[in-house]
Amino acid sequence: MATFTVVPSDSPLPEAERKALMAEPGFGRVFTDHMATAVWTPEAGWSDHRIGKLQNFSLHPSAAVLHYAQEIFEGLKVYRHADGSLWLFRPEANAARFARSAERLALPLLDEETFLTSVTELVRQDEPWVPAYGGEESLYLRPFMFASEGFLGVRPAAEITYCVIACPVAGLFQGGVSGVRLWVSTNYTRAAPGGTGAAKCGGNYASSLAAQLEARDHGCDQVMYVDGVEHEWLEESGTMNMFMVTADHELVTPGLGTILEGITRDSILRLADRHGLTPVERRVSLTELRQRCADGTVTEVFAAGTAAVITPIIGFNGDGFEVKVADGEPGKTTMALREHLLDIQHGRAQDPFGWMRRVL
Ligand SMILES: *Cc1c(COP(=O)(O)O)cnc(C)c1O
Repeated sequence: MATFTVVPSDSPLPEAERKALMAEPGFGRVFTDHMATAVWTPEAGWSDHRIGKLQNFSLHPSAAVLHYAQEIFEGLKVYRHADGSLWLFRPEANAARFARSAERLALPLLDEETFLTSVTELVRQDEPWVPAYGGEESLYLRPFMFASEGFLGVRPAAEITYCVIACPVAGLFQGGVSGVRLWVSTNYTRAAPGGTGAAKCGGNYASSLAAQLEARDHGCDQVMYVDGVEHEWLEESGTMNMFMVTADHELVTPGLGTILEGITRDSILRLADRHGLTPVERRVSLTELRQRCADGTVTEVFAAGTAAVITPIIGFNGDGFEVKVADGEPGKTTMALREHLLDIQHGRAQDPFGWMRRVL
């Protein structure tokens, strides 16, 4: 197991400034004092594991990641419980997914133990940056790995950098949970069989930006992607997985394959029966969604991911159609599942599956 050498920052932010930033952190704008790093080469494997001051990278302009996007990332949160202790939510699942993404992007494997050590050591070093118990705030961790070798040839890079940065984040729904409207894009797809849809890689996000603009142009908040072959089967929203609640108490979500295997998705499927729902993973057609929203047999729709937890979806727009989900308000089951997951994460509800891992 790798040990991370800790070199504390010589210029941590003064407490008053930190508190001012943490009062309104937003998402992804405020960063802690430290970062975790390690470097890989074919000869030495992983080396130089350290927790040090957050600082800029120095990259040659030919660094492969800048040209060919050989990069993957993860996203997970640390929660402060009422007694002050700090907890991660299912970090082993992030480590496992990071390994699967690495394989798909021809990046080196970083073992689970090293992944867990890097995030826990960083959190210990930046403990004051973990928001207080009581709200929906948390510390968001962003592990990532990229091709830092300077070389313009197309092949897996021979120098890779691993890094973890952290930022305190607000709950995304400060003024109460409100629903979003999705644009069903038939111009753009995010994934195809054999592609990188199931890997958490930056390239998937680069190609999603044009679709996001298209959604905005149609007055929608985010995109709902359909499959790349028939343009008929629902996939996901590009940062979140999608769920439907039906009148006969099923919780339906598109099956795995080209979608990203969300940890929130998996957690919600496992909590379903505690809410009187039967979890179902299967193909869902756009035709089915439109019909069942119209005839009322789909009663709620929501999206799920680490950043926003659960976001109610109140309607869909697409080329030549518009559907409303139920009465256009966030659904009861949606809100109950959201509350349940948040309560487990913040230590207010029993953790029946042993999902929480103590850090400090
Ligand atoms: C990260 C991500 C999700 C959500 O995954 P979680 O593990 O629940 O955070 C969904 N879709 C895409 C494309 C993602 O990158």
